[in-house]
Amino acid sequence: MTVLVTGGAGYIGSHMVLALRDAGERVVVLDNLSTGFRWAVPDDVPLIVGDFGDGDLVTEMLKRYQIESIIHFAAKIVVPESVADPLGYYLNNTAKARQLIECAVGAGVGQFIFSSTAAVYGDPEQNPVTEDETLKPMSPYGRSKLMVEWMLQDVAKAHPLRYAVLRYFNVAGADPQGRSGQSTPNATHLIKVAVQAALGHRNGMDVFGTDYPTPDGSCVRDYIQVSDLAQAHLDALNYLREGGESITCNCGYSRGFSVLEVIAVVKSVSGVDFPVRISGRRPGDPSAIVAGNARIKSALNWQPRYDDLKLIVDQALNWERRLHNRKAG
Ligand code: UDP
Repeated sequence: MTVLVTGGAGYIGSHMVLALRDAGERVVVLDNLSTGFRWAVPDDVPLIVGDFGDGDLVTEMLKRYQIESIIHFAAKIVVPESVADPLGYYLNNTAKARQLIECAVGAGVGQFIFSSTAAVYGDPEQNPVTEDETLKPMSPYGRSKLMVEWMLQDVAKAHPLRYAVLRYFNVAGADPQGRSGQSTPNATHLIKVAVQAALGHRNGMDVFGTDYPTPDGSCVRDYIQVSDLAQAHLDALNYLREGGESITCNCGYSRGFSVLEVIAVVKSVSGVDFPVRISGRRPGDPSAIVAGNARIKSALNWQPRYDDLKLIVDQALNWERRLHNRKAG
């Protein structure tokens, strides 16, 4: 019962590999190392360096490792980049995913877990947003993921494969044991940026807009800790293995924090009052998006363990220090 993790050398994928390994599962990673790191994959986990859109390679791997389940993380994930390079996003996130799903069907893979995103909702009219909300992605990134959701719906009707689509809200934090964390250079995500500012690794930071229709004018997001997110995939895997129907679930805590609130927490946890500049809005940002999480809790029995922004920030700070020392050393 081997599980293939595409993108297993990346931020969320590497936490998934740790969670699978900790649960005693057999796991194999496929990653082209474009944004992932070899060191992020434990030595005893096979890492195949290659492209998940390479049908021959994937078919050979599925056979060789007798893979029964695929958890597909590998993707491009930067919204503004998707606006500048839509075809790159539709190639990587959509067309290559189609190829991967075709290989999965051909090899009789039973379960497919797909990393989707809250970006499929766009700027929702109501929060918390449920899975049945109208889908109005605002970027090529969101659309590139939504098209794969649709493919999986159609494929699951025509073939024995069942899927879990997990729509991630804002993923943050690091492995509580310090084994992995967000390591992408030039990361743009809020908690990473704020933590780097607190540690003096960048000269302060910008707040992109304080004129939104939110309580303090800055954008509101639902920050989910990365190991809790990995656990959601394990729960989805077990649910599908036990015969559960294909399912789509939001992954978040159903609690929103504004950008200014997040920065205040980073300042208080780090004890550093770094410079914060108020700048204009960043194109494509929804004003507020918070996950309705009733479905994942009831259907998958997901029980988050790290629903605490201070703890998430503390983990991110610890990881950033470790990463910095690793580079310096
Ligand atoms: N943000 C910000 N300054 C930064 C990075 C992000 O004000 O340096 C804001 C961003 O505009 C958004 C929120 O923080 O409102 C979360 O952005 P992030 O890029 O972390 O995730 P997204 O919600 O875009 O997936």
